[in-house]
Amino acid sequence: MLRLTEVRLGLNHRETELKAAILRALGIPGPELLGWHIRRRGYDARKSGEILLVYTLDVEVKDEAALLERLQHGHHVTLAPDETYRYPVRAPANPKTRPVVIGTGPCGIFAGLALARMGFRPVILERGKSVRERTQDVWSLWRERHLNPESNVQFGEGGAGTFSDGKLHTGIKDRGHHIRQLLKDFVDAGAPAEILYISKPHIGTLRLVKVVEQLREKILELGGEIRFESRVTDILVEDGDVQGRTSAAGGRMPRAAAVRGVTLAGGETIAADHVVLAVGHSARDTFEMLYRRGVHIEPKPFSIGFRIEHPQHLIDVCRLGKHAGNPVLGAADYKLVHHCRNGRDVYSFCMCPGGQVVAATSEAGRVVTNGMSHYSRNERNANAGIVVGITPADFGSHHPLAGIGLQQQLEQQAYVLGGSNYNAPAQLVGDFLAGRASTGPGSVIPSYTPGVTWTDLSTALPDYAIAAIREAIPAFEKQLKGFAMHDAVLTGVETRTSAPIRIARNENFESVNMQGLYPAGEGAGFAGGIISAAVDGMKVAEAVAQKIIQT
Ligand code: FAD
Repeated sequence: MLRLTEVRLGLNHRETELKAAILRALGIPGPELLGWHIRRRGYDARKSGEILLVYTLDVEVKDEAALLERLQHGHHVTLAPDETYRYPVRAPANPKTRPVVIGTGPCGIFAGLALARMGFRPVILERGKSVRERTQDVWSLWRERHLNPESNVQFGEGGAGTFSDGKLHTGIKDRGHHIRQLLKDFVDAGAPAEILYISKPHIGTLRLVKVVEQLREKILELGGEIRFESRVTDILVEDGDVQGRTSAAGGRMPRAAAVRGVTLAGGETIAADHVVLAVGHSARDTFEMLYRRGVHIEPKPFSIGFRIEHPQHLIDVCRLGKHAGNPVLGAADYKLVHHCRNGRDVYSFCMCPGGQVVAATSEAGRVVTNGMSHYSRNERNANAGIVVGITPADFGSHHPLAGIGLQQQLEQQAYVLGGSNYNAPAQLVGDFLAGRASTGPGSVIPSYTPGVTWTDLSTALPDYAIAAIREAIPAFEKQLKGFAMHDAVLTGVETRTSAPIRIARNENFESVNMQGLYPAGEGAGFAGGIISAAVDGMKVAEAVAQKIIQT
């Protein structure tokens, strides 16, 4: 198989033109080409007004060696690399121990799937409900203002990204071909095949729900076990709590302690020497339990801000010009960053073209925003987080969980500003910049349900964050005309951008002071987004499998 890069064609080219372009690039007649498939499709919009599709293709020809010999000085044809992902070990016929995975977000699902494929029959515990039942609970907050603290946008099968845009791109490197494997798993589970090759793939909420169900079936078929409504409330630790002790050099060293199992909310205990902790960034009660148990936790930077909504058409025209609305390109996105005079960085986060702003709290009496869309991305508004980076120095305390305290305070304040009924506080961008309260919508109708309360958002975040966002919005206008439009809507607050903690782990992915505990994914501070969390889950599963084989 050969890999052919840099095949460029007009945006509206016909299917047959692609084959003709391959033949041209390789300089061969039609019968010499045995087959081909698209490995990657991006687009190049650098020429003003012109957009070209840029293909990388894997092609099969009759005489590969002769073609390579002939094109050896060309840069665009090489042997296609082997991108097969390989599981590193295989479990013995009857493994003595079953690993436990806590959480069925992308990290837990892919850790579980990898362990199941290697033959380790994991037991997977999820505090929330199965994805169908969970969907009812999510709607119940969005429609009836009723929150189920155990089954919501953050908790339940599929994890935090289930009611999302399902964006599947990531900045992480993929030397071990984990991403390729998991995208194939997504496609086998019902995701559109294009996610394997388009540059910014996404699935959308409705399809994600089906994909999650199929992945569950796969794990069960392979001998795994999944238990819903099974909240882990404690870990069983050998040698009692992890206490500090004094090393020969006089420094404090953690005493070796090991996890021996978990306790569930009903009191049941499950013995396990290997526990993958894939609980996501909202499992605040679990973090407190781990802290009490002495597991080493550090505070970590995260971001706070608002969601902003514009008409999607405005973004399309600004980004795609005359090609706005072209179905090949779909609804346009954006990515913006501004470095402020006060030293803060403001950036767009989790941009959802043609989507809606969602109520994403998991705790009663709190309001948190986020964004989602369906596969079609055809809702009226574009939304994105506009967030300010903060560090532990902003948390107001050196306590490892201080960032959680700050999140809770802001979320509670937003609940009160919204009217204490799960409405989100909202303000028009023009009013926010002018420093006056809003009293109602303009041309952009906010999509957040159950509803918004028009107010002044300047008290919703610390002063430095408000100042930074006030400076950033006009700066973004220079990059994206219309961004600072008076009627664009800000909704607050966006606080769950990533985990405010990191559960430190060693080079074998184990907690630095609790053997057998494997902190993983976004909640442990090692991922941000669906793909990076899933890849982290796979890598942790590999580490667990290797450890089990060695012991
Ligand atoms: P999570 O997905 O948070 O999963 C953790 C799981 O653990 C949950 O199911 C939870 O119920 C369970 N759990 C927690 N505590 C316990 C316990 N004590 N016992 C048992 N189970 C427990 N990312 C993208 O890449 N693209 C997007 O388009 C995107 N959109 C998003 C939209 C929304 C509305 C939200 C909320 C997030 C979005 N994200 C998106 C972020 C993405 O969802 C997360 O990065 C990702 O889900 C993290 O995966 P995870 O498996 O580490 O944790």
